[in-house]
Order: sequence, then structure tokens, then C-alpha cells
Amino acid sequence: MPQIPTTAGPMEIAELGKTMTHEHAFDGSEALRTQFPHAYDRDEDIRVIIEETKKIQTHGVETIVDPTCMDLGRDVRLNIEVTEATGMRYVMSTGIYGQGYTFLPMFIRRDLSQIVDLFVHDIEVGIQGTEIKAGFLKCAADAPGMQPDIVALHEGIAEASLRTNTPIMAHSNPVLGGSQGKGVGLDQMKIFTDKGVDPSMVQIAHVGDTDDLDYIEALLDTGCYIGLDRYGLPILTREQRNQTLIALVERGYGDRIMIGQDSVIRMDGIPPGQRREMMPDWYPTFIFDEIIPELTQMGVSEAQVDKMLGANVHAWLTP
Ligand SMILES: [Zn+2]
Repeated sequence: MPQIPTTAGPMEIAELGKTMTHEHAFDGSEALRTQFPHAYDRDEDIRVIIEETKKIQTHGVETIVDPTCMDLGRDVRLNIEVTEATGMRYVMSTGIYGQGYTFLPMFIRRDLSQIVDLFVHDIEVGIQGTEIKAGFLKCAADAPGMQPDIVALHEGIAEASLRTNTPIMAHSNPVLGGSQGKGVGLDQMKIFTDKGVDPSMVQIAHVGDTDDLDYIEALLDTGCYIGLDRYGLPILTREQRNQTLIALVERGYGDRIMIGQDSVIRMDGIPPGQRREMMPDWYPTFIFDEIIPELTQMGVSEAQVDKMLGANVHAWLTP
């Protein structure tokens, strides 16, 4: 049985339990924390994350896939502390988010193979000097499209995936940035598969930010998994997101969908205390409190819900 690295050590797939595919404990600027340490209270961040994580656990969730990577402020020791305090396990990532989805300033004079070696280190040795290894690779493309550095990043992620047999999660804009006038996901998949990555190793994230079923089907037909993972973010309404999900299940894609909120418990972008005012539905248990009951009422089976928070996530994570 393949083992999945988590913040509680390596686990058998069957032990992962109910698993959320895309929720961040923390998302912030490493530079701000290093340069202006007086402005941040890491202990308070951890206290709030523990409190919110306990609420997630009341819904039976045992594992969270946390896609906070480099330049989103990945801090594996923070996740480890939350695991020790709550028992919640995290599957951590390695990779790069990319400045504004356009370029990678920190690697301007480095060879791609050096970047790949860094990813492989996180997967084979451990993250940030710990023994906790990365369980998946993360990269991002968005409205600016496949800029040269972003292409290089995707090629490097593909190479690290092939070298280590590790799955990939790609942040993606499903509306803008693509070479065919739609979302950028098809271009991302082309890079991965041209490099030789098995498409079933790839999850394209944020696909639920469109209700363009033609685009989504074209993407699914490449063989990837997709994240309908931004419930609560007011890019589309919950009704639009639900209709898309139901249509995809009816068309036979129920085994390749994952759901979530892309929630972030503590982040620099929105000051603490203001988020519920700005985006009242964007919080870590929104799908349990409101969406799953709604989907069930609309005819989505319990078995289908279980897959989107279990088997589908596990199948993507399994090398
Ligand atoms: Zn995210």
C-alpha cells in the first residue's frame, strides 16, 4: 500500500478518513513577517487556527490537504503544532505560487533543474528542516496566461512529479488566461501531459469558478481531477456552483470531482475580524453547514458526497 506523508507522519490511504482537498490553515507573506515581526502574532494565529480546526473536526474531517506553498507563506511547523493540539492531519505541498502569476523573481538566474531539486528535496527529505515530507506539488497559472516563467514552473513541477511519482495540484483560472480564449487549465494540462505526467496525477483547482460546462468537460476529458473548491467565495453564487456540480455528476464525472472552500483561517489579505463581514459564507465549515444539506436535498447521493470528501481525493493523492 502506498503511504501518504502527513504532519502526523506517513499514513496508509485507508487511514486518511474524511479528507478536505483544498483548505489553508494559513496564508501570508514571509517577507512581512521577517521584516516587520512586531506586526504579527504567530501564537495568536495558531490559537485561532486550532479553534477553527476543532470546528472542522465536528464534521468528521480527519485530514486536510493544505496547498500553502512557497510565497503563500508555508510554515510546516505551524501545521505540525495544530496537528499536535487537535489530531487533524495535513498533507503539505511543495512548489511555487508565482508572483502575480507572471514571474518567479527569486529564480531569475537559476537553472530550472535547481528548482526541481528543491521540490524533490521537500518530497524525499522533508520540508523546512523537518521530517515532514510534501505529499503533492503545487503551481499556479491565472489570467496572465502561460508567461515564460509560468511555463518553466509547470515544466519543473512535471519533472519533479515524474522523478518522485508525486501528484500535482495546479491553481487555475477557469475563465481567463487560456490560449483558446477560455480558462488556462487546458494549457496547464498540455504542459503536464506533453512532459509525460499521467493526467490522473493532476488536480486542476478552482474549476468551480465557472459554470461553462463545455470548458469543464474538455478539461475533464484530458483525464485530470477537478476542484469545485471555492464554495463561499462570491465569484459565482452557491446556486451556480451547485448546478454545475449536479450537471457534472449527471454526465458521469462523479469520480473526478472534489469540493471545498479554499478557505484560509488566518491570512494577511483580510484583517482578522473583517472577513465574515466582507464574505459571510467564506469559512472552513460552510460546505458542511449549508452546501451538503442543500446538495442532498437536490438529489445528490450521500455516496457521491462521501467520494468528493474521500475516495476521489485519496485516488488523486495516491501515486
Ligand atoms: Zn487555495
